[in-house]
Amino acid sequence: MADLRDLYQEVILEHSKAPRNYRVLQSANHKAEGFNPLCGDHYTVYVDVENGKIRDIGFQGAGCAISKASASMMTQSLKGKSTAEAEDMFTRFHALVTGKNRNPEDLGKLTVFAGVSEFPVRVKCASLAWHALHAALQGKQEAVSTE
Ligand code: ZN
Repeated sequence: MADLRDLYQEVILEHSKAPRNYRVLQSANHKAEGFNPLCGDHYTVYVDVENGKIRDIGFQGAGCAISKASASMMTQSLKGKSTAEAEDMFTRFHALVTGKNRNPEDLGKLTVFAGVSEFPVRVKCASLAWHALHAALQGKQEAVSTE
């Protein structure tokens, strides 16, 4: 189990150092800002939705390794998915990081965040980008806060 944990940490560190889709998306027709005052994480998520599908997605901002890696892996997982699939993944991801997901395998690579459920403070870091994504897809104008 210790090896698996190390591997998970490695994936998170790698994504936080070299985040994927880390850019302002000029073509975005949905965007939302998310704050996690507890940790100081602050990101904007940009989504380009066409015919109910996420054609492109990006994010920018700053925060801890977990929040950045989570945002990076979220963008990777959602490109090409329908907005309904994205909302469904958000629900399952949230269940994963709060220790309530019974079938985490469904989430593929995102299961690296399962360990976060042991650290309540980190749950907000891991789910911040997803909350911002949800707000963006719902067309919310105000920034979302985890507090
Ligand atoms: Zn954080």
